[in-house]
Amino acid sequence: MSANTKKQMTLLFEESVKGRMIDLIPDCDVPKKELPAGMERAAKPRLPELSEIDIARHYTELAKRTHGVNDGMYPLGSCTMKYNPKINDEMASLPGFTGLYPLQPRATVQGAMEAMQTLETYLCEITGMNRMTFQPSAGAHGEYTGLLLIKAYHHANGNKDKTEIIVPDSAHGTNPASCTMAGFKTVTIPSDDQGCVDLEALRNAVNEKTAGLMLTNPNTVGIFDKNILEITKIIHDAGGLNYYDGANLNAIMGQVRPGDMGFDVIHLNLHKTFSTPHGGGGPGSGAVGCKSILAPYLPKDEVVANEDGSGFELRTSPDTIGKVRSFYGNFGIVVRALCYVMSLGREGVPETSANAVLNANYMRVGLQDVMPMAFDGICMHEFVATMTALKSETGVSALDVAKAMLDYGIHPPTMYFPLIVDEALMFEPTETESKETLDEVITALREIIEKAKTDPDYLHGAPHNTVVRRLDEVKAAREPKLRYSFE
Ligand SMILES: *Cc1c(COP(=O)(O)O)cnc(C)c1O
Repeated sequence: MSANTKKQMTLLFEESVKGRMIDLIPDCDVPKKELPAGMERAAKPRLPELSEIDIARHYTELAKRTHGVNDGMYPLGSCTMKYNPKINDEMASLPGFTGLYPLQPRATVQGAMEAMQTLETYLCEITGMNRMTFQPSAGAHGEYTGLLLIKAYHHANGNKDKTEIIVPDSAHGTNPASCTMAGFKTVTIPSDDQGCVDLEALRNAVNEKTAGLMLTNPNTVGIFDKNILEITKIIHDAGGLNYYDGANLNAIMGQVRPGDMGFDVIHLNLHKTFSTPHGGGGPGSGAVGCKSILAPYLPKDEVVANEDGSGFELRTSPDTIGKVRSFYGNFGIVVRALCYVMSLGREGVPETSANAVLNANYMRVGLQDVMPMAFDGICMHEFVATMTALKSETGVSALDVAKAMLDYGIHPPTMYFPLIVDEALMFEPTETESKETLDEVITALREIIEKAKTDPDYLHGAPHNTVVRRLDEVKAAREPKLRYSFE
C-alpha cells in the first residue's frame, strides 16, 4: 500500500515474517570467547524478521508523516529550527571523527582535542567568556552545570547561605527546574508591561541570600531588555552572580556579548543556534561558558593546550565540580558547530543574527494588523502574538490557528508559551528562510484569520489534509505507549 492509502502505521514487529531475516553480520575474525556461565540470556531476543526493502519502506513512510526543516518552514519560537547546512554533517561524519574511541591514547586524538579547543576559543570570543566546557548534553543540563559553578564559587568564598536564584516569570521552564536540581530556591519576579525585568521587583527580591540571577536576553517574548547593565549590577552589588540562558543566541551573536552585559556564566544550545539538526530528541550540546572567576570549578577533564604549545592535554582543577557527563560531551555536535562558525567567519556571524532579527520583524509587521502582538515595538529573533481577541470574537483559539497551519505545510509556532501571554503564538522564522517563504507564510496566516471569521468550525477541525488529524495531546503525553508487548 502507498503511504497515502495506508492510514494506520504498523510496527516493524507486526510486519515481521518468520524466516525473512537479513543477516549482514560479517564473519568473526578474532578468536571466539565464551561468555562466563550464567551470563548468557535464556531466550533469543525477539527481533523483527524483515527484508531490507521492508525496512526501507517502513522508515520512509514514517519520515513522510513528520515535518522537518527540509519539508518547509518551522517557525517554532524559542527552538531556532533553522536550516542546517549539510556540510556540517559531512564534516562530523568523517571517519577520523566517527571512529574515535574516548579512551584512546591522548597522542592519537590530538586533532579532536584541537577541534574542541578551537571551538572553545571562538565561542568565548562570541560570548565574552573566558572558558567553556562541552560536557553538558543539552540546554537544561548546561543550566544545571552553570548553577553548580555558581554554588561552588559561593561555597569557596564562605557564602553557604547564598541559596536563592532570582528568575523572571517569563523564563523558560527549565530555569526554575534547574535551580531546584542544583539545590537552590527559585525566587520568581514579575515582568513589567513590556515583558522585561521589573527593576523595582528585582531590587525588592535581592538580599543576602541571593546567589544569582538567571536571565535570557532577548527574553522569551523576543524583546531585548535595555536595562541589562543595571540589572546585572544590582545582582553583583548583592554579591550574586549572573547566569545567561543563551539557548537562543540567534539574535545577538556577533552583535553584543553576554560577558559585556555583566553575565558571569552562560550556556549555549549548540543544537539551536550553532546548527545541529534537532527536534526529535537527538543528541545536543549545552556548552557552558564562564568568566575566569568560575573557571576553577569547571567539570573534570578540561581540554587545554600544552604549556609548551606542542599539543593538547586534559587538565582537572582541584576545585572541580566533577564530571557532569561521561567523557567530553557529544563530540559530533562540537564538530558541526566548529564547521558552522568557521564557514560563517567574522563577517558571517553578525550577518546571520542581523538576518534572523530582520526576518522576525518582517513577519511581525506583515501580520500585526490581523494578529495583535503581545508587546509593541521592534522584536529580536522572535515575536509573540496573542489570539485572545480572535478567540472571544470567533471562538477560534491559538491551538486552532496552529493546527490550520499544518494544512499549508507549515509547522506551527510555539503555542501557549511564554506563560505570561494569554493565547500565545510565538514565531521564530530564523535567518535561513527567504522573503518568498516568509510572504507565503504571512499570506497563509492571513487566510486562516479570515477563515476564523467566516467558518470557525472548519478551523476547530483542522488539520484536514494531514495523514494524522488532530491528536489527543493530553492522552499522548500522559499515556504514551512506549513498549510493544508480544501477546
Ligand atoms: C530550548 C531552551 C532551553 C532548554 O534547552 P534543552 O536543550 O531543550 O534542554 C532553555 N532555555 C531556553 C530559553 C530555551 O529556548
